[in-house]
Amino acid sequence: MAIVKCIICKQVLIGYGHNPYPIGDKGRCCDDCNYSVVLPLRIVNMKKWKLDDLRKKEIQGGKPMEVKPDFIYKQFFIWLGVILVIFSIALIIIINI
Ligand SMILES: [Zn+2]
Repeated sequence: MAIVKCIICKQVLIGYGHNPYPIGDKGRCCDDCNYSVVLPLRIVNMKKWKLDDLRKKEIQGGKPMEVKPDFIYKQFFIWLGVILVIFSIALIIIINI
């Protein structure tokens, strides 16, 4: 079995180790580094992404994205059009018979 070293502290790994992302894409890291460095960093990044998301929403007026009534009306008219077309085709077929 090949000796694998932790990419963070360079200690020889016991077991399979852990995925060191976001510290590194390649290699593995040890339990200690996983719990003391990698996981906290992931949590920090998660909070940062959430903050970025909140900031984006703030720029859009501070409200979470919602479906605009305008969009619903457009959808309604599109479906009304589709139904009308289907009805008129059906009507033409019925009249021809
Ligand atoms: Zn380590």
